[in-house]
Amino acid sequence: MADRRNDADAEIVRRVEWPEGVSRPVATPMQPSVVYAAESPDALDAQYEGRAEGYTYAREGHPNADVLARKIDQLEGLPGGLVTGSGMAAIGAVFLGMLKSGDHVTGGDQLYGRSMRLLQDDLPRQGIATSFVDCGDEDAVAAALRPETRMILLEVVSNPTLRVADIEGIARLARARGVCLVIDNTFTTPRGFQAFDWGADIVIHSVTKLLAGHSDATLGYVNARDAATQEAIRVAAATWGFTPSPFDCWIAERGLYTFPLRYDRAEATAAALADHLASLDGVRRVLYPGRADHPDQARAATLLRGRFGNMVSFELDGGRAAANALVRAMPAVPFAPTLGDIGTTLSHPATSSHRALTPEQRAALGMSEGFFRVSVGCEEPERLLAEFSAGVAAAAGAGG
Ligand SMILES: *Cc1c(COP(=O)(O)O)cnc(C)c1O
Repeated sequence: MADRRNDADAEIVRRVEWPEGVSRPVATPMQPSVVYAAESPDALDAQYEGRAEGYTYAREGHPNADVLARKIDQLEGLPGGLVTGSGMAAIGAVFLGMLKSGDHVTGGDQLYGRSMRLLQDDLPRQGIATSFVDCGDEDAVAAALRPETRMILLEVVSNPTLRVADIEGIARLARARGVCLVIDNTFTTPRGFQAFDWGADIVIHSVTKLLAGHSDATLGYVNARDAATQEAIRVAAATWGFTPSPFDCWIAERGLYTFPLRYDRAEATAAALADHLASLDGVRRVLYPGRADHPDQARAATLLRGRFGNMVSFELDGGRAAANALVRAMPAVPFAPTLGDIGTTLSHPATSSHRALTPEQRAALGMSEGFFRVSVGCEEPERLLAEFSAGVAAAAGAGG
């Protein structure tokens, strides 16, 4: 009897053709291939020289990243965006693609924690000077600009105090001084804020948050108005290895299909929750850009044009004991330092995002032990409001 095992072993390592038919899949395929085979050296030449389209190696680009990037491009209103392995990778690619030793960067003084760290510790080690500035104050930003300032990095709505940056003033300044304006549009999303219309040169996202929307993919996005700048950023991302996983891109694309629905639902609930919290005994103040008592209400109305987002912050009358009681009384709302999930999440900046600050520094930012940030999700609004009522009542019972 012939032994067929050797033949089978020889065959098993060969790739097989994908079964094609006259029908096609409705869902986007997930393509994990790291490498792409070319038809011939001539064909590969044509690809490298831009005469033919084709992928070569996934770190340089792959179809699932491109499908997702084209979708986010539509939301931001500019073609040519790049999806990266995280929001921080997008910011890193901007810095590595554009800055050199001797440059200066100024950033908002309430940036996302890791962005803050990049500016505070990591860029200075590369010989890049940095500073922080109050983005609500155009004069302060003007004073922060130096002859060697290359870039301003800011977020439209700050975390967690939900202050609104003076984008009009800062964009005017940036244009006049030839400084690149980089807007992190994660919080506001393109549904809330059209950054390129307001003078952004570069827009970045943590796609991890609202765009993907289910806390199951870590991704970023970056796009620059100037094509040569975008190419420099793309090359930096490929060289430093900031490439996203095809699976993450695939699942984020699926999440993105419902982004407008999720955003609208969460935003409507956020507005209702803000008003509800403001009506409860034991709540000292509520911060929501759509409320008449918000310190930047007029600016928010201009920039966000009625789209005030899904984030609400509030401060309890009590301190840590009240904060513990509130979290324990609302077990259905995850106490987790993220935002943009399909479900509502609650974060406590004093023990998470802003724990590195001293109590005095937190107080200066208006962030006490009783301060919470809520990322409102898509659950049934009445029920969510009732859960917050229970949480605030428990906090009031716990005292200071
Ligand atoms: C989460 C976040 C980031 C970082 O994004 P990752 O995907 O976690 O790397 C940057 N900016 C803002 C405003 C964020 O919320």
